[in-house]
Amino acid sequence: MRIIPIGGLEEVGKNITAIEYGNDIIIIDCGMSFAGPDMLGVDYIVPDVSYLQKRKHQIRGIIFTHGHLDHIGATQYVVPKLGNPPLYATKLTAGLLKNRLREFALDKSVKLHEYNETTVLKLGAFEVEFFRVNHSIPDGMGVFVKSPAGTLVHTGDFKFDHSPAIDKPADMQRIAQIGKKGIDVLMIDSTNAVKPGFCKSEKDIANNIEDIITKTKGRLIIASFSSLIGRINQICLLAAKHNRKVFLSGRSMIDNMALAENLGYTTYPKGAVRKIGPQAKSLPPSQTIILTTGAQGETLSALTRMAIGEHAHVKIREGDTVLISASPIPGNELAIVNVINNLYRQGAKVITNGDMDIHTSGHAHAEEIKLMHSLIKPRCYVPIHGELYMRMGHAEMIKSIADPKMTVTMLENNGDILEVGRQGIRKSKQKIPANDILVDGLGFGDIGSKVIQERKIMSTDGFLKML
Ligand SMILES: [Zn+2]
Ligand SMILES: [Zn+2]
Repeated sequence: MRIIPIGGLEEVGKNITAIEYGNDIIIIDCGMSFAGPDMLGVDYIVPDVSYLQKRKHQIRGIIFTHGHLDHIGATQYVVPKLGNPPLYATKLTAGLLKNRLREFALDKSVKLHEYNETTVLKLGAFEVEFFRVNHSIPDGMGVFVKSPAGTLVHTGDFKFDHSPAIDKPADMQRIAQIGKKGIDVLMIDSTNAVKPGFCKSEKDIANNIEDIITKTKGRLIIASFSSLIGRINQICLLAAKHNRKVFLSGRSMIDNMALAENLGYTTYPKGAVRKIGPQAKSLPPSQTIILTTGAQGETLSALTRMAIGEHAHVKIREGDTVLISASPIPGNELAIVNVINNLYRQGAKVITNGDMDIHTSGHAHAEEIKLMHSLIKPRCYVPIHGELYMRMGHAEMIKSIADPKMTVTMLENNGDILEVGRQGIRKSKQKIPANDILVDGLGFGDIGSKVIQERKIMSTDGFLKML
């Protein structure tokens, strides 16, 4: 069995792992990552699947762990290149995937199957099972893969939350049962592995937000991630309890909540939540909550437009309180500070996660990582997801507590190969191509570093057109 992370090792994002045995290949996740500010004109980055393209007749399916863009966002680009293999996802993830496929007119040609925690998939020589985890979007699953050469557990993005927002708690009994089967390789989320303690529970966050709702007399504007469906549902429930109507602002917030409502992932009373429009102004401020996108200070987002007075339906005024129920993704700090300054300029008061706990991460902290390690007890431990420093820190931490017989293997680069077989588990000397494919508008992989270089020159030095 060969395990090949094609993306997700050198960045936070673009997660995709191929697993090969004999003539069969399965793929876990198919994500994108966002371009940095130095990649002029590039919208996002998708994984290089040239290796898989040459073996597309061997691909038995793509399995999705959850619905975040760094796990599903490249699907519409990758799937046609691989001859439209079948896709497997839980209900909410499948709903999000369906919308993407429809947007790119692929919904007719791609078969999308739903799975749940009791499903057993037979994909070529592989048997695949699942276990429920918690994360910052409902319906996250970890994956257990069995092939004739060995076993693998892939956690996906996970944390343990005993009082989550809308999901059930992560299924520790099942994880322990899977661990008992004897696991060769554990691939495990590193994003917050070196942060101490446990993640705060969604329940604690909801309690703090309720506190703010009861103490606030004026209008409340809450910015968060549009995929944090459980948290958004909790806020909507609290709003109904405290006699406030919720207005949703921002395309992804409106789309995601419509999908969540349709698929049964919301529990607030019908009519308590609506899309923002002129009627948002007619209600007294004390009866209004506006839930918006833009918690990362994104240039065109609804919150940014509110902050500079350019939102069609929301004019910030004295007495407004803005809650930023998120923490900055590294690189976005400056943009967020700008938005906060502008909100104060318009007369609002701003509460961030730095002031009180109104956000919790979806990624396991150190103690949760140790718990997953002790439930699975693999022969070989592979920290994945995240920058090298996060994965190295994760490796050091786990080595200090683990059985010395367990090996901790660092797959440093995308395209590295881990081989599992009779001779043991080892990193191969080979490597497959795993470049960044840049997406520019609808163009896919047709711009390279030379184009970016030329754009940089043009942006500072101008250009001369020959007539
Ligand atoms: Zn995620
Ligand atoms: Zn992720």
